[in-house]
Amino acid sequence: MKNFKNKIDDYKKEFDKAVLRIKDEKSLQELRNLFLSRKKGRLTLLFKDLKTLKPEDKPLAGQMINELKSYVQEKLESLKEKYGTPEKVVKRPELTLPGKKKYWGAPHPVHLFQEEIENIFLSLGYSIEEGPEIETDYYNFGALNFPPHHPARDDWDTLYLSDNLLLRTHTSPVQIRVMEKRKPPIRIIIPGKVFRRETPDPTHLPMFYQLEGLVVDKGITFAHLKGTLEFFLKTLFSEKIKMRFRPAFFPFTEPSAEVDIECTVCGGKDEGCRVCGGSGWIEILGSGMVDPQVFKNVNIDPEIYTGFAFGLGIDRTAMFAYQISDLRYFYENDLRFIRQFFLK
Ligand SMILES: [Zn+2]
Repeated sequence: MKNFKNKIDDYKKEFDKAVLRIKDEKSLQELRNLFLSRKKGRLTLLFKDLKTLKPEDKPLAGQMINELKSYVQEKLESLKEKYGTPEKVVKRPELTLPGKKKYWGAPHPVHLFQEEIENIFLSLGYSIEEGPEIETDYYNFGALNFPPHHPARDDWDTLYLSDNLLLRTHTSPVQIRVMEKRKPPIRIIIPGKVFRRETPDPTHLPMFYQLEGLVVDKGITFAHLKGTLEFFLKTLFSEKIKMRFRPAFFPFTEPSAEVDIECTVCGGKDEGCRVCGGSGWIEILGSGMVDPQVFKNVNIDPEIYTGFAFGLGIDRTAMFAYQISDLRYFYENDLRFIRQFFLK
């Protein structure tokens, strides 16, 4: 016990001497470590020694260690004010360094492409309409001249929520909704999500984006349809792009045509082209003159008014415009892919 008291006295003397030698932050920190370091500091070692003492000596010895500890701490605390506080250095911001780059949200490439298409039609005086994604059988099929059990329904196989409610297979129901409410002249485009019962592959998805157009007025002819689509495709792709109309069938238009453009990837020069299959043409949209029966369904007199309609897949067209080989890339949300569209 006597040895123990001597040891404490020695440490106190050693500490007092060391204090006199302190001249800066560094020497202050060294002294702090020497006495207060949690692993090998003098005081930690003293507390370890305490365990070797006789039980009756422990209370007094403990008291002496604690007194020394308080003494050391108080002294170091007062020296801190003079020599700074190494463990609490306030870091000042370096104002000349470049800021941290943050990625802000940005429109999806398919949405950007949709806006590009919208702008072309807005410049022609069209307005934008929207409609519900859950439709009734009547709006999705019946009013558009698809009777029940019509084979054309197979091409638009969809996901039913009940016998009468389904996820719309095309944006065309919005044509009906607009014509029910408004009388001609009508000049609208209808962008939106549509759904089909498809297994995803490079060119098919169960959910994709469509953009539909409808013009109804007196004296509208197929020449208006052709001129409009030609202007649209040349503005969207290039002034030089070749296009062709092929006869087709849609229940809600008569006559109907599918429109092809020359392959944007190979220009028709590569027989092994994955995009056009070597034909040199890619199908880009469906179109036609509005069937008189559709007008009758919405109480527009087909003897007075005529009109045309067209529709295209937005993501599918973006795929050709950006020369992307797989539609699924758009929806995998891989930022390495998505970010490419913002580097332009
Ligand atoms: Zn090709």
